[in-house]
Amino acid sequence: MKAIITFHSIDQSGSVLSYPPEKFVTLLESLSRSGIPVLSLDKLLLRDVNKGIAITFDDGMKSVFTEGLPVLQDFNMPAHLYLTTGAVGKSNQWSTQPACAPNFDMLNWDEIEKLQAGGVYIDSHTNNHPDMRMLSLAEIEDECETADELIKKRLGRHPQYFAYPYGYKNDQVCEFARNRYKATVTTAFRVLNSNEDYAKLPRLDAYYLQPEWLIKNLNSTLSRGYLSLRGLIRTVRGKQ
Ligand SMILES: [Zn+2]
Repeated sequence: MKAIITFHSIDQSGSVLSYPPEKFVTLLESLSRSGIPVLSLDKLLLRDVNKGIAITFDDGMKSVFTEGLPVLQDFNMPAHLYLTTGAVGKSNQWSTQPACAPNFDMLNWDEIEKLQAGGVYIDSHTNNHPDMRMLSLAEIEDECETADELIKKRLGRHPQYFAYPYGYKNDQVCEFARNRYKATVTTAFRVLNSNEDYAKLPRLDAYYLQPEWLIKNLNSTLSRGYLSLRGLIRTVRGKQ
């Protein structure tokens, strides 16, 4: 099994963007016992690697530092953070955010530096978290250039990977991302197959990875069936 898991916030609120801290511990514990290695995207995406999980966080909520990092360090596991640079030190109430979206405090640069030092790769999620389908090519370039330059300036590393805000994309955006980044992730819910388009990598949203039996047996036949069914339901509902 090869898969990329999406988290946003690690907290107890029960929101659609939240994953409970104690389940985060249980999930990492069972992964470390399962024999499925937790890898960086560089390693996971090597063609000859056929087993592994990559952990990713979108947006840059503060709890990635307060709740996520200590657990990742306990298990010595890498992760990637897709950072929305314009929200650093603020909240997630950017202009395209639906009114019903839960409110979160975001990381500041000091915390982001500590995340990087602790083994979290800081990658790109634009500057303003726009619906990129609505942007001209010049605006797409501006969003990515601003975010990537800021990350490079503050952290000394150019982002290698990208996540489409809300998973929204069209041919123009995918083509741009394909030329600019090593790989780009979406919100399509499934595990990786052997011949993925690196501009449209699927992920497993952690929100659906909460049942205890699933967390503890992620690679079982039953779990694989559950994950396929969940992906099918999301596709039918048009949430990709
Ligand atoms: Zn996002």
